[in-house]
Amino acid sequence: MELRICHMYPDVLNLYGDRGDILCMSQRLKWRGLGVEVTRLPIGQTARLASYDLVFIGGGQDFEQQVLLEDLHRGKDREIRAAVEDGMPFLAICGGYQMLGNYYETYDGQRCDFIGAIDIYTVGSKKRMIGNYKFQCSPEAGGSLVVGFENHSGKTRLGSSVRPLGKVLSGYGNNGEDGTEGAHYKNVFGTYSHGPLLPKNPAFCDHLLLTALTRKYGAAELEPLDDTAELFAHDEMAAKL
Ligand code: GLN
Repeated sequence: MELRICHMYPDVLNLYGDRGDILCMSQRLKWRGLGVEVTRLPIGQTARLASYDLVFIGGGQDFEQQVLLEDLHRGKDREIRAAVEDGMPFLAICGGYQMLGNYYETYDGQRCDFIGAIDIYTVGSKKRMIGNYKFQCSPEAGGSLVVGFENHSGKTRLGSSVRPLGKVLSGYGNNGEDGTEGAHYKNVFGTYSHGPLLPKNPAFCDHLLLTALTRKYGAAELEPLDDTAELFAHDEMAAKL
């Protein structure tokens, strides 16, 4: 078994070590003797998303989000929407998460029309929401406790077709007001969690990998790994928060 992972916009969306999520997914597959192929999809390159098994999009500041708008609306928008509806697993972080939604209006009134692949929208606020935080994923999203790092001014609201990825236990999450964090729609997992997210949240990483493997092969199981170091990092941060 193998997974083909598409790393979308690695050239512009890569904050706070988001690339570590790609390394983590790859390594956890390799440790189990499973194959992995990572393809970088920068600005200007044709997507062909249907040929992958999982798509990863990292975070970026308002500026980077504006830089990629033109490229996004030159065909990738349609492809992403089709892949999402087809059940393609996506992990999208912060700016990449916002980008899958309908729009982002910055605090100073600039509007980025995004792609409406999931029914969310984001409006910038004066106060940045920064810090380590933790949240409990919903049972449908694997149910694990996740620790991460957030830094955003955008406040995200979810439409009725989209479930929150989880419930904030400490920190801000989607907007610092309604207690929700991230979004879960079909196999799309959107979150504000940088850090990178996956190395210190192995259960969440495995949930993603299993989602992708099950979609591709019909049924799949993941051998348990020795996660002593990963869980030490996870538990240490969870206890602090
Ligand atoms: N530009 C977005 C915001 O501040 C996303 C930032 C990020 O990806 N960290 O809301």
